[in-house]
Amino acid sequence: MSADVNDLNLREPDTFDWDEYEPSAGVYVLPPAGIYRLLPIELPVVGATQQDHYLQFELGPLAVMADGRPWDGFKINYQRVNVKPWPKRRSHGVADYLTSHGYQGRPQSNDDYIAAVQSLVNHPCVGVIDHKVYCKSCGYTLKGQDKLPKDESGATVTRMVCPNGCRETRVNEQTGEATEQAKMLFVNVEVRAFVPPERLK
Ligand SMILES: [Zn+2]
Repeated sequence: MSADVNDLNLREPDTFDWDEYEPSAGVYVLPPAGIYRLLPIELPVVGATQQDHYLQFELGPLAVMADGRPWDGFKINYQRVNVKPWPKRRSHGVADYLTSHGYQGRPQSNDDYIAAVQSLVNHPCVGVIDHKVYCKSCGYTLKGQDKLPKDESGATVTRMVCPNGCRETRVNEQTGEATEQAKMLFVNVEVRAFVPPERLK
């Protein structure tokens, strides 16, 4: 079964420094849609909504807290909340974000809201998260893990080809060879709603 090593005309490996060994980050595991404790781990970026200039935060990465599960520590990036009133409920995204931490304050001014949101870095909140696919090239969007295609094992896919036929050029890391192929969209995770901590039993 095993070939005689002497017949393989092998070269010796390049010198490898095992003290500098970098383990593979592996394949990230998406948290299934559901309700989770989330930890903001960096200060938010303060900004404004595009048209009406309401105070808006781009929250730093939100780390999913799921001790012992493969998606523990999964980071949700670029999540935004602003103080523009919801059309059908007496609240707004920042109020929901604050109360999802169990926050009891009653901020009114922009400065109040900025101080409040900044004070909650490294304090867990609670959010409903779900999967989302987005194509930057054509704008195709699919929201909801239940709407995603399933693989042979019955699990929802973590990536899919753009159904609108978008193409992309991909470069092989080892050979440097570029090939044009169907554009691959990666499933991402977003917070659909920040909810009061009592919702997490
Ligand atoms: Zn597309």
